[in-house]
Amino acid sequence: MTTTHFHPEHALGAQTFSGEATYLVNRAQADDLKAKGPGYIEMFKGLSEAVARRLEGVELPRPDVVYGDSHDLDLGGRIVELRATGRAHSRGDQVVRVPDADVLFTGDLVETGQFAIFPWFPPHDTDVSGLRWLAVMERLAADPPETVVPGHGDIGGADLLGDVRDYLRLLRDETWKRRDSAVSEETTAAEIKALMLELHPEWTGREWIENAVACLCAEHSHPHQDE
Ligand SMILES: [Zn+2]
Repeated sequence: MTTTHFHPEHALGAQTFSGEATYLVNRAQADDLKAKGPGYIEMFKGLSEAVARRLEGVELPRPDVVYGDSHDLDLGGRIVELRATGRAHSRGDQVVRVPDADVLFTGDLVETGQFAIFPWFPPHDTDVSGLRWLAVMERLAADPPETVVPGHGDIGGADLLGDVRDYLRLLRDETWKRRDSAVSEETTAAEIKALMLELHPEWTGREWIENAVACLCAEHSHPHQDE
């Protein structure tokens, strides 16, 4: 058993299988679970009473096996490739590829019909990186699978990877263009939101566009490799 990243709606079902299945994640995700899991449970409880009820008594899952960057799992002839992507949507993102079925599970690196979720909550959480996320999407889109299983929304094809890559690229370019011309962050966010809604009128999660702009405003090219 594995999860794509530590966020509650992705990882907090894992303890249901404890004792029955081995829980396997990458090192950065294990660290995220331990360091940030409890805070995110509390934050999600504040979202609504319904969510709070569902999280009542939930225990933080503890990984049984932790790998570094990559791990191949042999499920009796079917190989499943677990790959840490490095920091992007979270610090410990992982994609899962099943080569013989040509399927890629992306977690929240990809959503269908939704603006990219940027959990940019300074000063509490600033792990999301638009630049690193874009680099991951460029890499994934260059070697696309036939089927993509996103973190939220419908299953789709390789075009889902290109959609997120193009969105992040435009977001970066439009944000930096305004930053370079000393446009205020408020105006930048308003203009980019208008632009993105025009391009993707049917996408949900519009509230994430401002977070994404704020994140990109704080980022600079040539990020340190060791971050
Ligand atoms: Zn997430």
